[in-house]
Amino acid sequence: MASIFSRIISGEIPAAKLYEDAQTLAFLDINPASRGHTLIVCKEELPGLLDLPPELVCAAALTTQVVAKALLAVLQPDGFNIIQNNGKAAGQVVFHYHVHIIPRWEGDRAVGYWRPGTATSDDLRELAALIAARVVEESV
Ligand code: 5GP
Repeated sequence: MASIFSRIISGEIPAAKLYEDAQTLAFLDINPASRGHTLIVCKEELPGLLDLPPELVCAAALTTQVVAKALLAVLQPDGFNIIQNNGKAAGQVVFHYHVHIIPRWEGDRAVGYWRPGTATSDDLRELAALIAARVVEESV
């Protein structure tokens, strides 16, 4: 069955649309964390970041930047968050790739934050070495 976002893309379900091109669509979130909370979706129904081919990663990033500029010009927030959830454990509810743009105003508490933890310099060094080696494999 098509995702809720595919049904918005096809026009079956209405949405407050902001921008559309061949690969992406931007529209307002139906349950906004703040005024202007926007979703950028890839038209192709792929679950998460790791499923996207490079050209769709780029297309989504570009649409995110263009729409963020428009949101800033119109709403004049003090800042904005870009959030992209991958997997249930990370809070993803709709398994169709999307990026959130959430305009922010000083003191609005619209978005929760992580609790800063601690790590030893040995942990950081060892972990960095493991991941850095893997990054090389993933990028070829
Ligand atoms: P996720 O948690 O998967 O990253 O975020 C999914 C987002 O989609 C939520 O912020 C939710 O409010 C939004 N959403 C879910 N269904 C609809 C819908 O039918 N229309 C719109 N505009 N947004 C939706």
